[in-house]
Amino acid sequence: MSEFQPFPGAALDRCGLNRHAVFDLADLSDDIGGSIAGGTKGYRQLILIGHGGRALWEAVRKSGVGGADPIDDFTLRTIREWMSECQPDSRYAILYPGPQPIALQRLGALAGWHHAAPFMVGIDGEWGTWYAYRAVVLADTHFAPSPAVDRAPSARDTVPGSTRNIKEVPLGDSSPCVACQDKPCVAACPASAMAGGVFSLQKCVAWRKQDGSTCALTCLARVACPVGSDHRYCTEQLAHTYSISLQTIREHY
Ligand code: SF4
Ligand code: SF4
Repeated sequence: MSEFQPFPGAALDRCGLNRHAVFDLADLSDDIGGSIAGGTKGYRQLILIGHGGRALWEAVRKSGVGGADPIDDFTLRTIREWMSECQPDSRYAILYPGPQPIALQRLGALAGWHHAAPFMVGIDGEWGTWYAYRAVVLADTHFAPSPAVDRAPSARDTVPGSTRNIKEVPLGDSSPCVACQDKPCVAACPASAMAGGVFSLQKCVAWRKQDGSTCALTCLARVACPVGSDHRYCTEQLAHTYSISLQTIREHY
């Protein structure tokens, strides 16, 4: 019999927290484990939880959770309930959402979720850019560790809207951007923030800060990407997400 338990993710899925990755702490490099404030002593695993698509937003709206951070508050509540139902005897600590910095994209890359799109948002072949990291949990659980997701394109696949045949894509590279010759995201950016082949945060920020900016509550490049477009956030969810980043821009730039 396996020493590991299957991950009980169905209850999280129902709340829109539908992306999960389990890491044994012993398998993580020292710079990840060692950077966690308070250390990892007494814990065995790190659980990365994310959302893909619109289900989380719909669950948050239905729950009636409001306030400044309804998604974080709903996520914290859901994880606490989930742990008490599924793992009542397990010790755990929620690291994120929380005050300490966590290398979310690094964990996302280890999980096989993260590949950098030209506009520096994570992308994968199933969800496109329409996913995000919602929680990181330390726990003394015995869940089966997750293999990294590998969406390396097969010879039959093509990126929607691309004129390039996937056969030209190097095997083993699971970023959809590799197969996307036309790169409509680049042309859609009104600030030409990717025109030089490297993302210019300065150009993006300057465009977003303008009064009446077309990117105040969205990213036109992101919306133009055809990958995972079935999972694209609704206007309200986009506005919520981008209003938070716009506020950060106004405070720090
Ligand atoms: S449009 Fe193409 S290059 Fe741009 S993010 Fe989407 S897949 Fe990547
Ligand atoms: S937010 Fe607007 S300006 Fe910034 S990268 Fe996206 S499309 Fe370009």
